[in-house]
Amino acid sequence: MALLQIAEPGDKPAKPAHRLAVGIDLGTTNSLVAAPCAGKVEILPDADGGYLLPSIVHYGAEGEVTVGADARKSSLTDPGNTVVSVKRLLGRGVAELRDSPQYRHYEFAADRDDHSPAIVTRAGSKDPVEVSAEILKSLAKRAEHNLNGALEGAVITVPAYFNDAQRQQTKDAAKLAGLNVLRLLNEPTAAAVAYGLDSQDQGNIIVFDLGGGTFDVSLLSLQKGVFEVLSTGGDTHLGGDDFDQLLADWISEQAGLSITEVATQRAQLNQLATQLKHQLSELESVEVEFAGWQGELTRAEFADLCKPLVARTITTCRRVLRDGDLKVEDVDNIVMVGGSTRMPVVRDAVANFFGKPPLTNIDPDKVVAIGAGIQADVLIGNKPADSFLLLDVNPLSLGLETMGELVEKIIPRNTTIPVARAQEFTTFKDGQTAMSLHVVQGERELVSDCRSLARFELRGIPPMVAGAAKIRVTFQVDADGLLSAMAEELSTGVRSEIQVKPSYGLNSQQIEEMLQASQEHAREDMEIRALKEAQVEAAQLVDAIQAARAADGDLLTAEEGQQIDTAVAALAKAVQEADSKQLHEQTEALNRLSGEFAARRMDLHISKALRGESINKVESTPE
Ligand code: ADP
Ligand code: MG
Repeated sequence: MALLQIAEPGDKPAKPAHRLAVGIDLGTTNSLVAAPCAGKVEILPDADGGYLLPSIVHYGAEGEVTVGADARKSSLTDPGNTVVSVKRLLGRGVAELRDSPQYRHYEFAADRDDHSPAIVTRAGSKDPVEVSAEILKSLAKRAEHNLNGALEGAVITVPAYFNDAQRQQTKDAAKLAGLNVLRLLNEPTAAAVAYGLDSQDQGNIIVFDLGGGTFDVSLLSLQKGVFEVLSTGGDTHLGGDDFDQLLADWISEQAGLSITEVATQRAQLNQLATQLKHQLSELESVEVEFAGWQGELTRAEFADLCKPLVARTITTCRRVLRDGDLKVEDVDNIVMVGGSTRMPVVRDAVANFFGKPPLTNIDPDKVVAIGAGIQADVLIGNKPADSFLLLDVNPLSLGLETMGELVEKIIPRNTTIPVARAQEFTTFKDGQTAMSLHVVQGERELVSDCRSLARFELRGIPPMVAGAAKIRVTFQVDADGLLSAMAEELSTGVRSEIQVKPSYGLNSQQIEEMLQASQEHAREDMEIRALKEAQVEAAQLVDAIQAARAADGDLLTAEEGQQIDTAVAALAKAVQEADSKQLHEQTEALNRLSGEFAARRMDLHISKALRGESINKVESTPE
């Protein structure tokens, strides 16, 4: 696969003045900001010297907006006006969130123009973009305070599996916060960059990210300083919180608490569990005291409790390797990200599975932001532009609906981005002057089994016979994973385009489900596709011959006409009945019968409608 170079915005001779750019890890639980200080990228602290900004926003009674630790306090006292884990809401629809118990305490506004779930607060309804913008503003302020100047750009990290909608909304949030986004960067890639792995000639890297509530594994391949995401996997509901839960359950069992006692003391139990869990990352054993009960918990006992959860993370690693077509031995480095990778039981399991110790010497909380900061420094022009190129892939195929409700894939899944691909399509009916284009995402053959991303129309096609018009459709995915689709009628140059900003998002689990479904249904899909194609072809043949009969019927003898009409009727019936055997036989019969007629009508042009043929791969011209 040809690798396309990303034009670096800072691609000019090193400027004497140092320009201020930051890297931002916009996390589900915590966010951080990093920038080069005295030649080394460092995390910028807040006024108290802390570096994690809890990703929590509170809309106060006086109209004030607070972000971070102060907002966290309000999540207990004023939950309805405090937004936590807003990252989980990006790119999602209201309906799915209303049904989710996690978001029960929020009131969602009725659908706004773009279906994004706005949370009703006392400050009005706030959508995830607006809430995220508050977090970004707070980080920008912290950075400007530390760096003593105005920011010129930022690199913001996103999970590798984020789709178009989620990436676009992250960018929108940055714009709203007044930031100039140099680029969105995949979190695992940022982590690999923080460890300087990009300076190696080649290698395969696993990034293992176990945070508070989510787990992500990415497999990256590095070739001559170019990163490619080979595969990703994870669990959107597995993280440190689950280990806390296990430990809290263990304590309540040991202390013999009743169900009501557990319910009333839930907060204290959880707090103690978290504290003990953290201690067991340093100590071999801890003293436990709760509700009058006293005991001891060793690291080994805790590891035993954790086994089932840890096993799940390893199963995911195995699957990610399989998806990327690599074996355990092919992995050169394992990068640990997220607070929960401090747990020895997790580190041991990972070392065991991969047969080598993971990289852990950079603080797992900071590693993503540091990588983003390094990249920001390059992109703003403080470093030679050829320091490194970063490339990603699109996680699901992007295609267009064709006749018969079939999907024609234009950019297959796992294609390195940025990329542009063009394909030619044609009209289905004689005299057709407009075309409706439907952009879909997914691996299945039928439109109804894929996700609809956008629809747009091309008008002003000059009337021609079916199949004569040439419409070139170009899909371009930029370095941030955003799709623009363009259709152009080649003889007149009329064109129409659309930027895809889907109103509905997908999470990594849904992506995985879509991939699984496509594998499970591969055979059945192929058969349906063949049948639908035969139906479209036959229907077109019926149409064309009927039109020809009407126009040039006098070219045929009465007997010939009779025979053709009978064959047309038989074929039309086969289309109706979707009878694949009959479709083939009757199409063949009609083609044979009408061959002579066609020859007599030299201008009759029967062509396969809307069957595109791959043309050139278009060189991409990213921003
Ligand atoms: P997120 O990616 O969800 O924002 P983080 O990467 O900040 O989350 O990780 C937070 C999780 O890491 C919490 O569950 C926390 O308890 C856990 N954690 C932090 N430090 C330690 C430690 N020393 N030992 C074990 N777990 C830890
Ligand atoms: Mg994280």
